[in-house]
Amino acid sequence: EKMQAATAREEKILVLVRLRPLSEKEIARNEVSDWECINENTVLFRNSLQERSMFPTAYSFDKVFRGDCTTRQVYEEAAKEIALSVVNGINSSIFAYGQTSSGKTYTMIGITEYTVADIYDYIQNHEERAFVLKFSAMEIYNEAVRDLLSTDNLPLRLLDDPERGTIVEKLTEETLRDWSHLKNLLSICEAQRQIGETSLNETSSRSHQILRLTIESSAREFLGKGNSTTLAASVNFVDLAGSERASQAMSAGARLKEGCHINRSLLTLGTVIRKLSKGRQGHVNYRDSKLTRILQPSLGGNARTAIICTLSPARSHVEQSRNTLLFASCAK
Ligand code: ADP
Ligand code: MG
Repeated sequence: EKMQAATAREEKILVLVRLRPLSEKEIARNEVSDWECINENTVLFRNSLQERSMFPTAYSFDKVFRGDCTTRQVYEEAAKEIALSVVNGINSSIFAYGQTSSGKTYTMIGITEYTVADIYDYIQNHEERAFVLKFSAMEIYNEAVRDLLSTDNLPLRLLDDPERGTIVEKLTEETLRDWSHLKNLLSICEAQRQIGETSLNETSSRSHQILRLTIESSAREFLGKGNSTTLAASVNFVDLAGSERASQAMSAGARLKEGCHINRSLLTLGTVIRKLSKGRQGHVNYRDSKLTRILQPSLGGNARTAIICTLSPARSHVEQSRNTLLFASCAK
């Protein structure tokens, strides 16, 4: 029983909060920030006008990052260990959760690049093993999955493979040649996402983006001898749809249940995460959304997970910031 408790703690989802600085535009319209990180774990809401509101004022997490922290710091303390466990065959997911404009994409781009750079470093220092890196990228919009490395916009089907779990059919998987190849692929994804954006009206705030890096490795001395074991694992960088979509859907309640406004993937992710954070026991409803189906192998079992909740400091965003912190509190 003791062993089990230790394992459960180890597998706990890491929950972090990153406050961004006020933007120049926000400063220009005299926005102020009511949020303050009072230590490494706690973010505090300080506003004398709203002091007696029904919401808690202090929120604690595994780590909180002030507006002047760099993405490098966030990566080192929040994501590095989890993302690099992929070289040892352990799946992982790093999420950015927060309202539109809170810094999700800014944070995830940096973390993806730092991870790949560190993985290349690792490979150079472990010549006894042969590594293959593969990269794929997809977007989920209104429960339709699109390949971000392909120019045709056809929705992709999900298939159930008895051994590998859920597979995204026909998803492009590029074998990475080097660092510049990755940079090139990242800019293709960015362009693909922007094409959608003009035609579908700010898609990026409504869609989830998953960048997936898969690493296979085997010991060189056994290569070609038929008895080598290959380690394979994926790390997923997930830039979620703006969380305002989930809270809009929830406040609209049952009335809109069938409506297209509900972001099923975001809501299901919330319930899956809450379930997992309570110890990964019993039924987890992975199959209720595309996002959780695709990510299932990197969420349950011995997979490692970090959620970086991004927060706008602006007073005009206080409602959404609170929603984000409530989500984060449920996940820890
Ligand atoms: P989201 O993806 O959540 O909609 P973005 O990542 O696009 O938000 O960030 C919104 C704007 O704020 C961008 O111009 C981005 O460069 C800037 N930004 C976000 N986070 C930071 C930060 N920590 N420091 C400086 N600028 C940031
Ligand atoms: Mg974004």
